[in-house]
Amino acid sequence: MNELIKRKDKAAPAEPSQTQDDIVYAHVFDAILEQRLAPGTKLSEEALGEIFGVSRTVIRRALLRLSHEGVVQLRPNRGAVVSSPNVDEARQILFTRRIIEKAITELAVDNRNSEQLRVLRQMVEDEHQCFSRGDRGTGIRLSGEFHLQLARMAANQPMLNFQRSLISQTSLIIAQFEAGGKSHCSYDEHMELIAAIEAGDKARALKLMDDHLKHVEDKLNLDGEAATDDLHAVFSHLLDKKPLKVKRSKLAED
Ligand SMILES: [Zn+2]
Repeated sequence: MNELIKRKDKAAPAEPSQTQDDIVYAHVFDAILEQRLAPGTKLSEEALGEIFGVSRTVIRRALLRLSHEGVVQLRPNRGAVVSSPNVDEARQILFTRRIIEKAITELAVDNRNSEQLRVLRQMVEDEHQCFSRGDRGTGIRLSGEFHLQLARMAANQPMLNFQRSLISQTSLIIAQFEAGGKSHCSYDEHMELIAAIEAGDKARALKLMDDHLKHVEDKLNLDGEAATDDLHAVFSHLLDKKPLKVKRSKLAED
């Protein structure tokens, strides 16, 4: 397997069956979730093709998929950019997230088992360690992964898909509007939530989730500054690697 597709952590290991666009998609998705890609960043097909060593067709497919999740905007004749939700859109996304998280929390309580709870606790511990050693990007992504894992516990695929999109859009909102330096999720609150789920205390779990999301929203600040818009800087860890050599997608290349 090529070096490029060995992910730097255990979040979503590359599978042999992954296509090139899966891999490009995953890298860009992670960069957005880790807030290394700022809202409004132009996603040049040419630059990304060069960085990942793949055709523009592959890049376009990955960007199309990201656009379906609302994290990338495709602009006719002007190319793709990382979405930059305005304040109204941000509030709408967060409102929807509260509703979905409520349903997820209820189902997670109903479906809880010791293995899933163990995975959740491990995620929160990893998240804590990342922030402790100053690895904010990975910590932020793990915060999002915690909420995705809850959605997996809910065992409802459409809800999981929707949650994935909402989490990445929330990450963009945080990148755009949060006062710098803070995690958008508190791992203490995550731990409390796990305890309530484990105890089967649905009312408490729902209250904790609602408070948790409220805290995220309270941290929004319209003066927040974004990260970098330099694609080569964001993906610099890939640039010394060789081009992708994985199963090619069946669609025609250009
Ligand atoms: Zn959280």
